[in-house]
Amino acid sequence: MADITTYGIQGLIVTPTSQEYNGAIARHSATSVLRPAYVVYPTSTGDISLAIKFALDQSPPLQIAIKSGGCHSSTNSSTEGGVVIDLSHYKALKVSGDKQTVTVQGGAIWGDVYTELEKHNLVVVGGNVWFVGVGGFITGGGHSHLSGALGLAVDNLVGATVVLADGRVVQCSDAEEADLFWAIRGGGGQFGVVAEFVLKAHPARASTLVGALAYPAEELPKILELLKEHIKTQSTGSKLVLCFARSPVNFQPSILLLPYVEGTPKDSETSIDKFRTEVQPVFEQLDHVPSFTAVSHASDSFLANSPPRSIFGGVAFGELWDDIITRVYGEWVEFTENEDRKEAMVMWEFGVRDKISEIPSTQTAYALRDPHYYAVFSGRHTQADSDLPTREWIKKMITYVSAENTKRTGKVFRTQMNFAMGPEYTSVEDIFGDNLERLRKVKAKYDPTKVWNKGWVIEPEASG
Ligand SMILES: Cc1cc2nc3c(=O)[nH]c(=O)nc-3n(C[C@H](O)[C@H](O)[C@H](O)COP(=O)(O)OP(=O)(O)OC[C@H]3O[C@@H](n4cnc5c(N)ncnc54)[C@H](O)[C@@H]3O)c2cc1C
Repeated sequence: MADITTYGIQGLIVTPTSQEYNGAIARHSATSVLRPAYVVYPTSTGDISLAIKFALDQSPPLQIAIKSGGCHSSTNSSTEGGVVIDLSHYKALKVSGDKQTVTVQGGAIWGDVYTELEKHNLVVVGGNVWFVGVGGFITGGGHSHLSGALGLAVDNLVGATVVLADGRVVQCSDAEEADLFWAIRGGGGQFGVVAEFVLKAHPARASTLVGALAYPAEELPKILELLKEHIKTQSTGSKLVLCFARSPVNFQPSILLLPYVEGTPKDSETSIDKFRTEVQPVFEQLDHVPSFTAVSHASDSFLANSPPRSIFGGVAFGELWDDIITRVYGEWVEFTENEDRKEAMVMWEFGVRDKISEIPSTQTAYALRDPHYYAVFSGRHTQADSDLPTREWIKKMITYVSAENTKRTGKVFRTQMNFAMGPEYTSVEDIFGDNLERLRKVKAKYDPTKVWNKGWVIEPEASG
């Protein structure tokens, strides 16, 4: 069996004896860390093909994991004893001559993308937090603050370069390898390594109001009443996030409203005026920021001292139902009474949904197209002992909201891969729904032996 150094890989290769190993296996959350035998940092599509070949040449073949920004809540971006293809050194960006598209390599993080695009007065539909990776975000769907106006990240993908399980490098779009192009728009890392994403470019957005308004817990009913009215008429460049968090220093439960409202300072503030006049915030910090780069840094001070273990899970729902949100509030207060778990949060995301739901659920592999809002339950703690209770609490909350949603809408909403805790908690049916059948056919064509077997693994359709 040949040594990895004989394969001609140009990028860095890290093994457990390398000085860089602990840094190479680190992830956004300590709960996502595994111990691979090799971490390969490709600098070209050729390197990616060679890393795949090396893994498959071993006897038995080594498991391969794909890592972009390392932000997914699961351990999907790593492997115990296998090979991680870490794309973080493969992150260049190119704007097309006509400024209509932007080609981004698979290991870029959104902050780098926005910073570069600002020079061209452009933006793309991407993550709201600068350190999230483009690779996981786009292949998982990608809900952005910009989605109200411009749709999901997958709806803004016009082409891609993919390195397949057999090492071939192919271009895909609606015009070539159309099945593959359909599958990577929501199918996660199940079809190959997306080395380059070609995204629609949009003119940079207007200045934006971001920040936080904080209220005492007793104001929840009034805020829900105002919010229910507000979301009926808010503009596509506006989104409000209702957040349950215990704010330092005293860690009393509080209600936060986090606005993302595009427009002049006067217009954007006027649009949320009622949240300052009809109910009184005990604290407010609002800023007008000039660019999406700045938006992506808006939570920096808050995220800077995050506990090392973070576990999140999300659920979509059809309407703002006060009784559900109020019940979850009570459950969250109880859950966060534990000292180590007091930084857990719930975020209810209320943007304009039409642009997402106007796309048929079969048009891309991304299956959640019912008009929806969504909630993210985010456990943040230090002790490993808190992992299981946190996962169980998140699962309980998701099950509750999802069951109520089904009862009230008569429909089963699909789960967002980006916010799913991991394959142990969410099935492939939950994620892909009716698209699973076609995904199994595409899997049989592009990865019949399941080289890509991390995450929500799609069984290839049996031949014959
Ligand atoms: C602070 C924070 C804020 C977030 N906000 C949002 C949000 O607003 N909207 C939203 O939709 N999600 C959001 N997320 C969730 C995030 O989009 C997902 O966790 C996503 O998977 C992260 O992408 P990544 O590249 O950083 O992840 P990674 O953990 O590196 O990758 C996750 C998986 O994606 C696949 N993958 C990654 N890159 C590639 C590639 N190039 N080719 C093929 N497969 C690939 C692999 O299967 C990999 O295991 C947020 C997460 C965090 C931590």
